[in-house]
Amino acid sequence: MQQKNYSKYESFSYLEKDKDFRQFVLPGKERWAETTHIPLDRREEELLSSVFKDNITISMRDHGFIAPDIEKDILQYCKQLHTIYDYEGLSWSGVDVIFENFMDGIAINSSANGLKWDDVIYNLGIRYADIAKQETVYIATNTNEINLAQERNKIALVPSLEAANIIENEVDRVDILYGFGIRCMGITYNDSNTLGAGLTEENDGGLTNFGKKVIERMNKIGMLIDISHCGDKTSLDVIDTSDSPVLITHAGAREIWNTPRMKSDEVLQACARNGGVIGVCAAPNTTLSNRDPNHHTIDSVIDHIDYLINLVGVEHVGLGLDTFYGDHGAIQHAFDDMLSIDVSHKGTQQTESNYVVGLENPTEATKNIAKYLIKNGHEKDHIVKILGENIYRVLENNLR
Ligand SMILES: [Zn+2]
Repeated sequence: MQQKNYSKYESFSYLEKDKDFRQFVLPGKERWAETTHIPLDRREEELLSSVFKDNITISMRDHGFIAPDIEKDILQYCKQLHTIYDYEGLSWSGVDVIFENFMDGIAINSSANGLKWDDVIYNLGIRYADIAKQETVYIATNTNEINLAQERNKIALVPSLEAANIIENEVDRVDILYGFGIRCMGITYNDSNTLGAGLTEENDGGLTNFGKKVIERMNKIGMLIDISHCGDKTSLDVIDTSDSPVLITHAGAREIWNTPRMKSDEVLQACARNGGVIGVCAAPNTTLSNRDPNHHTIDSVIDHIDYLINLVGVEHVGLGLDTFYGDHGAIQHAFDDMLSIDVSHKGTQQTESNYVVGLENPTEATKNIAKYLIKNGHEKDHIVKILGENIYRVLENNLR
């Protein structure tokens, strides 16, 4: 795997640690180690390198975020602006384009409850300052810029938002967020907001009148719509209302794993019919599979990919593995209550997973999925579509 540019810059190294910002203990280089080795023969190795070299690889959801090593530090770490980004780890990921929400769902600088306007804007500004100092990633807000990723040997980050709570009742904030670079926005998180119902709500009243105005504005300005965390009725209403394809950037199929966090066949089919793409998630305790309910592994994630290919066709399947660096399980615990994570995962699982075996971090995740698809005999044509071609089609036609 060719490494992307890496200038040895470390996040905020232009500042003085413990004077300008507090330094926390972070995991060492093992944070991007390969947890599962998938051996390939020579023919398979050649196929793997041609998939990455000749085609664009796009993750619909991943993060350069590094979580602190000590669980009790998590909230303090997320309260400060200067969280650390893993440029070196990402440089080995093989990925060309990442929809990056900069962990805005857990930015808690101004409020302990998250998803606030100030937090998101502060978070974007501080991240952009850090990004301006290095050579591995750059911000891309249109397809021309995205197209330069391979030529520049860098990763194009498409700024995204986890949920539209921060819009409150101000539709013009869509334009303002667009002005700050946001090109993809989730409609709700797990709980409801002024736009519609989140996936943990018992009563999903569908998209609100205000939600319709926001969708219309997003269509007009050319911002992509994400329903990963919406309830079923709200999801169907969004698809029905939007003139542009709607994305499910990071989720899975409820037929494979029955929890609110997974999507019903009806929602998945409506998304595909409307030209959307479904990114398969690998955040721990999301895309499990009935065949091994207590172990979240690359096999479970592949079960979702295979199911989706059969249900909606390979043209509508992508990857939104949703990995970062460090203990994902600990982050979920720290924000369980604030983000209703536990409720969203409620199913028959008895034993929690801290990460998905084989897909622990962004450095190994996409490569391992590609290797696994090759091992399982998927055609090159299919692998290329899943790894980026499908979502590229949506970006090309809808990002303005
Ligand atoms: Zn999410």
